[in-house]
Amino acid sequence: MTAHSADHEPVRTTCPYCGTGCGVLGGPAPMTPGDPEHPTNFGRVCAKGSALGETLGLENRLLHPMVGGRRASWDEALDLTARRFAEAVEKHGPDSVAFYVSGQLLTEDYYVANKLMKGFIGSGNIDTNSRLCMASSVAGHRRAFGEDLVPCSYEDLDEADLVVLVGSNAAWCHPILFRRLTDARARRGTKIVAIDPRRTATAADADLFLPVQPGTDVLLFNGLLAHLARVGRIDRDFVSEHTNGFEDALAKAQSDAPEFYAIAEECGVPFDDLVAFYDLFAATERTVTVYSQGVNQSSRGTDKVNAIINCHLATGRIGHAGMGPFSFTGQPNAMGGREVGGLANQLAAHMTLENPADLDRVQRFWKTQKLATASGLKAVDMFDALADGRIKALWVMGTNPAASMPNGNQVRKALANCDFLVVSDCVPGTDTARHADVLFPAAGWGEKDGTVTNSERRISRQRAFMPLPGETRPDWRIVCDVAQRMGFGEAFGFRNAASIFREHAALSAFENHGERVFDIGGLADLTDHEFEALKPVQWPVPAGQRAGTARLFCDRRFPTPDGRARFIAVGQQAPANATGQGHPVVLNTGRLRDQWHTMTRTGEVARLMAQAPEPVLELNPADAISLGIADGGFAEVSSAWGRAVARVRVTTDQTKGQAFLPMHWTDDVTAHGSPGRVANPACDAVSGQPELKHTPARLAPFAAR
Ligand code: SF4
Repeated sequence: MTAHSADHEPVRTTCPYCGTGCGVLGGPAPMTPGDPEHPTNFGRVCAKGSALGETLGLENRLLHPMVGGRRASWDEALDLTARRFAEAVEKHGPDSVAFYVSGQLLTEDYYVANKLMKGFIGSGNIDTNSRLCMASSVAGHRRAFGEDLVPCSYEDLDEADLVVLVGSNAAWCHPILFRRLTDARARRGTKIVAIDPRRTATAADADLFLPVQPGTDVLLFNGLLAHLARVGRIDRDFVSEHTNGFEDALAKAQSDAPEFYAIAEECGVPFDDLVAFYDLFAATERTVTVYSQGVNQSSRGTDKVNAIINCHLATGRIGHAGMGPFSFTGQPNAMGGREVGGLANQLAAHMTLENPADLDRVQRFWKTQKLATASGLKAVDMFDALADGRIKALWVMGTNPAASMPNGNQVRKALANCDFLVVSDCVPGTDTARHADVLFPAAGWGEKDGTVTNSERRISRQRAFMPLPGETRPDWRIVCDVAQRMGFGEAFGFRNAASIFREHAALSAFENHGERVFDIGGLADLTDHEFEALKPVQWPVPAGQRAGTARLFCDRRFPTPDGRARFIAVGQQAPANATGQGHPVVLNTGRLRDQWHTMTRTGEVARLMAQAPEPVLELNPADAISLGIADGGFAEVSSAWGRAVARVRVTTDQTKGQAFLPMHWTDDVTAHGSPGRVANPACDAVSGQPELKHTPARLAPFAAR
């Protein structure tokens, strides 16, 4: 591990917040400016990134293992964890245990956790909080391309003439990418279109804003597909030579979206703006469509993703500079988790649990007889299984599901009643950690070492620049320590992050004869020194190469059995839970500009807290008047699943009948209840991603007693 040098020479590392993946120069406060050599941000950082140096203190850190609420030795905590997991497996079978992990983990942490659960315990029960952020994009990519592949690079944002942002408040949630967009607008006149139910900061800065009604994205893009056919903008050569399913998708779109007036009315978009968007898309060859949580966090999220991809396939706008469908990931290593099988329905290295050849390959590579052969429980199902007692032992790594999961009241009860709960974290007092039987002190950012992958498939190093405090250990080390005590020592004898990365890279190339695009075999023979010096690189990096690949599908081939991309015929469907008399308002949840997740790090910085010192419910003036709720007063927001209380901001940024509550506040920092307690647990049937953007709710004035 690289400690911070004595002469305070900064260390090149990667920001631990969003999926943009900016390079930063690590060092003690007030350092951490942007890394001018990192190709993502070229030295820029946003407000959160610029404050990283102020988050490195050890106050409120978990520094020692805890068992039953008291300080314990590592041996006691590890022995107990290994014994209780082994006993549960022995008595109730491998599917009685589960890991719930995080997009905050490094790829190497993720790799060993997946290897232990799927490879040696023999269950698919490892899922991640990234399920809450981008699972619908993964499922949409697999349906359209045959593999979870992001075609674009950030350079495509620089080179586009039109960028359509759907359900993406990039100005707040991916600020450095939004800066690249506004630079492109200044330099080449790139037009920016924002499609969102709220007038976000992104929408306010867009050239055209379409305030869609929640859940109407499929209709909007089906209307676009029908329009492209009507005005002769289909790339017939590309469609006939490189795709399947166009006629079915078009027929579905045409029946779904017969004419502009009906689309505009149902989507809640002014007619002229709808036509302007369709004409702009039809006329602009270099178009990138960005989508994020507003698309993914939906019971129809996968269909929404495919409705967008259909429009790019129809126009052949993929695999060329300045064009393509582009999913922005939320977390710093959501993409890395996808690479190693951190989702319950993936195996490893983009291989699948449904493919016997993949199972055979991974079984031989890991030299195991216990490989899981079926998908495990996805996040919401996993906590349902915890609630009804099917899961006997759960290990939560680097995340706080008590606060972030929908149906939070049930999740909290399930965690409190869990037979055996283990939590690895940097801080001791999260809503989840307070129920733990065993607490493992994990190394934090600046202390741990490994890799992360950002939204454009770029693998960057996170490097340590401080010594490990107290008795903390990196997550990969803790997992390996438990695996060894469970009797799997030979497979988990890694000595550092580099040795794990090499194995991960070798697995991606193992008997891969070109059927999978994800291949980083060219990095499988990195020495420790080369790993330490590794520069940011975009996968794939096949054997014999060290340079990466900026853009996918340039050769017009897709990793499907016949090499063709697939149109998916999708139809408009309403959100899973409709508003009605008892709960007439749509509650939307999301991020603020200056906070990250449950604020364990950003909440330590006064200037970041200054943007929003408390959770504020945003509400349209018409709703505020009809409900008798005053601007600056308090409102109770309740649903069929729970309630929360927040101060109110009355704003025309909200459409009538909708309200917005930030996701960051937990019971740790407010006595009023976190949004997760209110959010509904309905999920997309394909991706398993919960519908965090659409909960039917009731609002009422609240007077503190
Ligand atoms: Fe960090 Fe994201 Fe800000 Fe870049 S844009 S500095 S990765 S929070």
